Amino acid sequence: MTARILDGKVLSAQIKDEVTARVEALKAKGVIPGLAVILVGNNPASEIYVRNKGKGCEETGMLSRTVRLDEATTQEELEGQIEALNRDPEIHGILVQLPLPRHLDENAALAKILPEKDVDGFHLINAGHLMTGTEGVVPCTPKGALYMLRSTGEDLSGKEAVVIGRSNIVGKPMAMLLLQQNCTVTVCHSRTKDLAEHTRRADILVSAVGKAGFVTKDMVKPGAIVIDVGINRVDGKVCGDVDFESVSETAGWITPVPGGVGKMTIAMLLSNTVDAAERTLGK
Ligand code: NDP
Repeated sequence: MTARILDGKVLSAQIKDEVTARVEALKAKGVIPGLAVILVGNNPASEIYVRNKGKGCEETGMLSRTVRLDEATTQEELEGQIEALNRDPEIHGILVQLPLPRHLDENAALAKILPEKDVDGFHLINAGHLMTGTEGVVPCTPKGALYMLRSTGEDLSGKEAVVIGRSNIVGKPMAMLLLQQNCTVTVCHSRTKDLAEHTRRADILVSAVGKAGFVTKDMVKPGAIVIDVGINRVDGKVCGDVDFESVSETAGWITPVPGGVGKMTIAMLLSNTVDAAERTLGK
């Protein structure tokens, strides 16, 4: 079997088209959706992500603002910037680019963002909404991965889903979303015994580990939908967690890296920002 490709470029373009139309509609009502990204220090990977987010805003007609803070910024200064953006009516979405320098408290900073402006969906209030299945902001990467899963047209209900990774930003919210789709969900992590025994049962396999070549053909059930969230660099080249060449011989569907989930993450960030701007109209 040769897997069909879940193309992040095509799927994210669909979302961006929808976002562009919604931005136009908001502008007609006098609202320009605005996204602010706070970047502390000069981590080269973060610089790229922030640039791509700005580009996405530009493409869809949104206002984009980058707040650059020095590597030595204090917690107080960082939180002061967040509070200023919370009060700023031009800004509907606030994102603190992670990771922060070690001396800063990530959780404390995220907790300062107004939940309705928390377009990354990392605030405890939004995590609680996801946990309880009530309306809140859903983290962009798992939301994008779910969009890809849905685009297969397969009925997700009742499927065995295995998520490798249990981070707060990918693994756990992904598991919650799959549970909402009525999948039977297993979450694996570094202490899981006999990982392959779990993954081989998976109709849906999501890998969010951060290790190149981690998921191999023998770990994948024939016909499975394989979503590769990992972003790794090997000899300067970007690749995922999944050994694409061999796994695409057995999977039914597979996401490439690059050109997969990463593209969806940015599209969902834009979508979450428009959601936030639309909510202000209702007030
Ligand atoms: P974390 O490092 O926070 O989490 C990695 C997870 O993998 C942990 O839960 C860890 O287990 C688990 N793990 C590590 N080694 C093993 C192992 N040998 N067997 C099973 N599980 C293991 O990473 P993130 O969740 O933040 O990100 C994961 C990957 O996704 C990274 O490559 C990151 O760059 C990428 N990413 C991609 C995005 C995109 O837009 N495409 C967005 C965000 C992240 P334990 O908890 O026990 O330590």
